[in-house]
Amino acid sequence: MWGLARRHHGRVLLRIEDHDRGRSRDHFESAILDDLEWLGLEPDEPPIEVLRHGPSPYRQSDRANRYAEVLAGLRHRGLVYPCRCSRRDIADTGAAPPGAEARYPGTCRELGLDSDEAVGLRVIMDPGEETFTDVLLGTHHQTPARQCGDVLVRDRLGQWTYQFAVTVDDWDQEVDLVIRGEDLLSSTGRQIRLARMIGRPDSPTFLHHPLVLRPSGEKLSKANRDTGLAELRQAGVSPETLLGEAAFRGGLLEEARPLEVEELPGLFG
Ligand SMILES: [Zn+2]
Repeated sequence: MWGLARRHHGRVLLRIEDHDRGRSRDHFESAILDDLEWLGLEPDEPPIEVLRHGPSPYRQSDRANRYAEVLAGLRHRGLVYPCRCSRRDIADTGAAPPGAEARYPGTCRELGLDSDEAVGLRVIMDPGEETFTDVLLGTHHQTPARQCGDVLVRDRLGQWTYQFAVTVDDWDQEVDLVIRGEDLLSSTGRQIRLARMIGRPDSPTFLHHPLVLRPSGEKLSKANRDTGLAELRQAGVSPETLLGEAAFRGGLLEEARPLEVEELPGLFG
């Protein structure tokens, strides 16, 4: 994505998506910054050194006030309601086949629960379709009310959700091209809807790319002890070798060969 953005003379933003502070730790953040510096993929904003030394609007855990402000706007228009359901409650409604996304059936929508308690907050998803054209995958139609139901924006622990935080950030940071893995394709319609609801006049363009998977088809993850960049770096693999391998797997090179960062933009015709 760094190469594609450079090719189109875009600015590359680095955002630390640690809205769920319970799971994110400072050392994960420094590891990501170390990896990017080592690969030579420096963002235009913010400078990595600035991010290392203090609060930043590019770190979601530093943006709680802004999320609260946007949420207040939605509440004022009657589009938000408290929900006390757990994930388990929603799974137990049995609406979704095993492995499919659980749709929230709207259990608490009419209950008028008190939002001072430890409850989640949901935004009402009206029926209706969202249509968008993915750069790689073409035109898609999604109906958030059928896929996921009313979207959770803050959970029962007071943590902002991914769906809400990225929608606010993409707007505030004027992101007009979102490049991400195709595991997030099903979230796109609801993010476009949320963006419109909070007042963003235009939608960003989306590009969903294939993921490198384990042979079993699962995503790579630390929990599965998949090799991370730090291990490869320690094993003496060069940044150029890794970039070349990634470009080859992404279909940008005919065969794997060492690649300099400066060559990346040229791979995107
Ligand atoms: Zn509920």
